[in-house]
Amino acid sequence: MRAIIVGAGIAGQAAALRLRQAGWETLIVERAPGRRGGGYGVTFGGIGYDAAERMGILPALKDRAFITNELVYHKPDGRRRFSLTRETIAATIGNRSISILRGDIETVLYEAIHDTTEIRFATTIKAVDQDEHAVHVTLSDNTTEHADLLIGADGLHSTTRALVFGPEEKYRLDLDHMVAVYMLARKPSGIAEGTTGTLSQGGRTVAVINVGDGRNVAFFGFRSNHTAGHPTDNPHTILPQVYGDMNWIVPEVLQGLESAGSIYFDTISQIVADRWSHGRVVLLGDAAWCVTLFAGYGSALAIGGAGLLGTALETNPGNIHTALTNWETQLRPEVAKKQKLARRVKGVYAPANPLALWLTQLPLRLASLSPVRSYMTRRYIKG
Ligand SMILES: Cc1cc2nc3c(=O)[nH]c(=O)nc-3n(C[C@H](O)[C@H](O)[C@H](O)COP(=O)(O)OP(=O)(O)OC[C@H]3O[C@@H](n4cnc5c(N)ncnc54)[C@H](O)[C@@H]3O)c2cc1C
Repeated sequence: MRAIIVGAGIAGQAAALRLRQAGWETLIVERAPGRRGGGYGVTFGGIGYDAAERMGILPALKDRAFITNELVYHKPDGRRRFSLTRETIAATIGNRSISILRGDIETVLYEAIHDTTEIRFATTIKAVDQDEHAVHVTLSDNTTEHADLLIGADGLHSTTRALVFGPEEKYRLDLDHMVAVYMLARKPSGIAEGTTGTLSQGGRTVAVINVGDGRNVAFFGFRSNHTAGHPTDNPHTILPQVYGDMNWIVPEVLQGLESAGSIYFDTISQIVADRWSHGRVVLLGDAAWCVTLFAGYGSALAIGGAGLLGTALETNPGNIHTALTNWETQLRPEVAKKQKLARRVKGVYAPANPLALWLTQLPLRLASLSPVRSYMTRRYIKG
């Protein structure tokens, strides 16, 4: 059996790994000229953690996980508002969950597959045709590849989805926010080693994560409006425009834009599709269901979804249709739950007025109190 996978992100590479383990031959086509790397910090747990354990990559992921010593919430003038300690953070994420950079998950997957899966970089798909025996895929280098299954793991703006399921507008639900992420060449002076600092003010959030190994990630999330908030906006112009009046370390972080290698900049949007497969073509990861960073679960679903897809194909040999139907039935409730959660979080993320901000931070302030922390540690870590 052979699968062509579009996209060498977390979903695509996890699918290649799991399908190889199920005895499939795999080819990945990736639009970028090389491995992308970089990225923001994610909490990786739930079904992704379980699948990573079954797939044998959990030890490598744990090796690259980082621990945040303190998460400090700042006031607009830069003073500390309150903070969560290492123990509280551990208690909130639970004991079957890790913090890791998105790019490091990709690296772990790449190391697990690169000997057995060809990744054709600087290549995309141009056309898809299928019959009852195979799927035929025309690539941008004008070659045609044939396979039993085509997996569209090409992210929020998936070309596979556009070619087979219809235009993106039919499926994209914008959550009225934009996100920008880039690596900083050096640690801002106001961020201590191994800590994360964050400030939320007037519908805008900014955070800097110091991973503790010399890497620093700058994160911006803000409500979009008429003047700012289109994927075609230039982050070099728009970020100083939106954040230019903020204090604390913000001016220093904005300066880091100039030397940032690549900048992730996009709308925060979900993909809502009533089916994820069409014959021999299946969507996986953000291409199928993008739950958004508000859910904090996209990487987990990408690896968890790939794991379950491999198992469904393994247990239904020769019957792709049944495998895909069973897989979707099994996974859909988890995705629906996380999409719903993200839509709720949207309403309380980076609130514009100070009272709303105080109320949304209240649970975190409570979590930072010693009795609550002890309870959470007992309940989630030791229990
Ligand atoms: C700021 C932020 C914070 C997040 N925090 C968390 C978190 O705490 N926990 C969590 O679990 N998740 C989190 N997520 C979500 C998570 O990062 C994503 O859901 C996950 O990485 C999805 O991976 P993917 O492989 O489906 O898509 P992508 O990462 O978008 O990968 C798609 C790949 O396909 C390639 N591609 C695109 N188009 C084509 C094409 N036409 N042809 C060939 N290749 C193509 C791209 O270059 C890319 O390599 C966060 C996301 C963001 C933005």
